[in-house]
Amino acid sequence: MYLRRLAASTRGFARPASSRAYATANGFTGAIGNTPLIRLRSLSEETGCNILGKAEFQNPGGSVKDRAALYVIRDAEEKGSLKPGGTVVEGTAGNTGIGLAHVCRSKGYKCVIYMPNTQSPEKIDLLRMLGADVRPVPAVAFENPENYNHQARRYAESIPNAVWTNQFDNTANTRAHYETTGPEIWSQTNGAVDGFVCSTGTGGTLAGVARYLREQAEKEGKKVENWLADPPGSVLYSYISSGGKLTERSGGSITEGIGQGRVTDNLGTEIGNISGALHIPDERSIEMLYRLLDEEGLYLGASSSLNVVAAVDLAKKLGPGKTIVTILCDGAYRYQTRLFSRAWLRSKGLENAIPQNLQKYIVL
Ligand code: PMP
Repeated sequence: MYLRRLAASTRGFARPASSRAYATANGFTGAIGNTPLIRLRSLSEETGCNILGKAEFQNPGGSVKDRAALYVIRDAEEKGSLKPGGTVVEGTAGNTGIGLAHVCRSKGYKCVIYMPNTQSPEKIDLLRMLGADVRPVPAVAFENPENYNHQARRYAESIPNAVWTNQFDNTANTRAHYETTGPEIWSQTNGAVDGFVCSTGTGGTLAGVARYLREQAEKEGKKVENWLADPPGSVLYSYISSGGKLTERSGGSITEGIGQGRVTDNLGTEIGNISGALHIPDERSIEMLYRLLDEEGLYLGASSSLNVVAAVDLAKKLGPGKTIVTILCDGAYRYQTRLFSRAWLRSKGLENAIPQNLQKYIVL
């Protein structure tokens, strides 16, 4: 295997085994994965650690969820529940739907998406442009039968040759990350990863990557600390910190696609091995979003910047010299009419969370 050594500060890290730059991908699905691992220079210098972000926004559908979308569709094909010309139905905050809509177009399936009507207009427009039948529904709790997931399941059950891909509880989602994202991170760091942290929606990314890194480290007599990062309005931080007590959901966050009110089957596959949880307020996520743009030239969504805040916090916990990996889930393009709008930031009480020298980026 060809591994190219990098400069002093990242000594020991390697290029991915198959570099996107030189490989030919077979269609849309062949282009999913093998994303770069980006060293965030200013934050690495600030913490004395290597802070590395997995550039999932470089997937062909623009987010980490392309991987899960491919795996849940393949799973349905393999089980025979999805046949040529069939319909894929899913409940999603958007990114899984976008991934599914791309994969459906590339494989000739119809795609129906139920989504909470609180999500950004950019995601709804994009889904429609990708040919999906988008059905925005009121954002109600999972316990309510009108929740977007239950509506998706019922619709799939009501029409022939349709499958509800069930991203929250279908562990083909976790398998995507156990078989691809985790191994890529291990290979890109040559196994020199001390900590991994990310937020969860379905929990597939955290569970799959954490399990792979933990198992690899154990084989080599090493330890990786896997942490969960949580936005306001999610119950998982208090669930983990209290040793397993589920509380009512309350409050909300500007982040989209993350935060949970329950332990999904995907998260459940690994939550018992998670080292701890970090609660990240929106003020810190939005400030980091603007800092990453200003200092690193990275235009990222708010779950990515929340993840980076958590990586910095974990670096401080583990001490200098460590390598911490997180996920850069998607780009800001999907949310820009919100995240770069002064009126929107003001409506969320977040205008002043952006330092004076970064206010120039608020252009809408
Ligand atoms: N970030 C964004 C922007 C997302 O849309 C999602 C998935 N909804 C996640 C992070 C979380 O990924 P996962 O579902 O694997 O926990």
